[in-house]
Amino acid sequence: MFSHAMPRIVLARETDWDGWRAATRAHVLAGTPPETLTWSIGATTADPRPEGPFPQAGGSFGVPRALVALAAQAIQARAPDRFDLLYRLVWRAQAGEPVLEQRDDPELSRARRLALAVRAEAHRMRTHLRFLALLHPTPTLYLGWYVPAHFVLEANAQLLARRFAAQRLAAPSLAVARFAILTPDASAHWDGTNLHFGPGLAATLVPNDVALAAQWRDYGPDILAAARIGTAIPQAEALDEDPRPPDRPPIGPVVLPFQRDSALIAAAEDASACRRCPLGDKATQTVFGEGPAGAALLFIGEQPGDQEDIIGRPFVGPAGQILDRALEEAGIDRRTIYITNAVKHFKFTPRGTRRIHQTPEAPEIQICRFWLDVERVQQRPRLTVLMGATAARAILGRPVTIGRERGRAFRLPDGTQGFITVHPSFLLRVPDEDSRAREYAAFVADLREASRIATEVA
Ligand code: SF4
Repeated sequence: MFSHAMPRIVLARETDWDGWRAATRAHVLAGTPPETLTWSIGATTADPRPEGPFPQAGGSFGVPRALVALAAQAIQARAPDRFDLLYRLVWRAQAGEPVLEQRDDPELSRARRLALAVRAEAHRMRTHLRFLALLHPTPTLYLGWYVPAHFVLEANAQLLARRFAAQRLAAPSLAVARFAILTPDASAHWDGTNLHFGPGLAATLVPNDVALAAQWRDYGPDILAAARIGTAIPQAEALDEDPRPPDRPPIGPVVLPFQRDSALIAAAEDASACRRCPLGDKATQTVFGEGPAGAALLFIGEQPGDQEDIIGRPFVGPAGQILDRALEEAGIDRRTIYITNAVKHFKFTPRGTRRIHQTPEAPEIQICRFWLDVERVQQRPRLTVLMGATAARAILGRPVTIGRERGRAFRLPDGTQGFITVHPSFLLRVPDEDSRAREYAAFVADLREASRIATEVA
């Protein structure tokens, strides 16, 4: 895996954790400085895989467990420099540098940001993954499609396989259910016993569920034939999943035909180049709303945060995770709602290596209302849930005191129904635990009420 002139390591695939660890170990022991190493992926390089063993220096070294855990997550990020970045951190740590204690260290900060982005995307994939149930041939195959922002398929497939296995244990009379998850990068296949990983499918071939089923019929056997058995990412270090309380059963496959509105797909493309206000110049990308066409509930927040800006999807960061939990407790499946923000670009102030959130101002909210109107007109929800003061101001055109107006339906200027509640990020800022628990319960109660109203309006 390395050449003698200038060590070039070619990993087997984007998530080749074992390969990266073996190469890192051998080169650190051989004293190979980071700046003389190059890293690439075998499947994407035009060069042939170099022959030859790793350097054979003996000895051993240790690095903090927390650094290994950080590397196991960050290696799943879609960032070409991650192998080099993580090698540098290990190189410095084995030399005795307390890298994990250097809070403002740019390399450590970048690795932590990558790991955070991976965790957020892994969570989002688990929240959003949906399946088509293919009943023939038996046993049922749950066929899923997802376009991940990072390389989280393998670790998430392991979690999902455990859920499928747990469901079977809970109900042994059920037939063994299989799943196949296709993504543009790779695919994962659970046959009831083993997990296999195979090639992916181009996103352009899968515009909707009908095309997904057709692609599977045509290419499924080829994909399966090319699959390898195995798990690339160590489960314990790769992703954390909150343990589910015993009174809640393991989540099973959710069969949910899901079709995005084609006009909104086009609008999202147009918005990706929007420069109607100055916010578009500083942020990474436009974060448009998402959800199925014709969703009964439309949720509006303030603006994308740091994680949303990197991943390009709404409510995938810390506030999104609180919202997901509250939605689940309120009995609302996030896959059935449309969710967006009043302002589509992240507004922030740089501070060292961090980006500090700034509240958008009235003119920015007003200008970005253009896109919000496109989403609302196209979705025509039964109820629009305004989360926080910015969302309420965007729709009502006036300052709103949330505590006074939350929790009940009212008529919006366009004749449809609106509902106000707090923004989930507010719950992150409540200082003491008791108040936080009280505010969280009030938020869940608001969501339950919103769901009830949306059902009644129907
Ligand atoms: S914040 Fe809204 S209006 Fe401003 S550039 Fe972004 S998408 Fe356009």
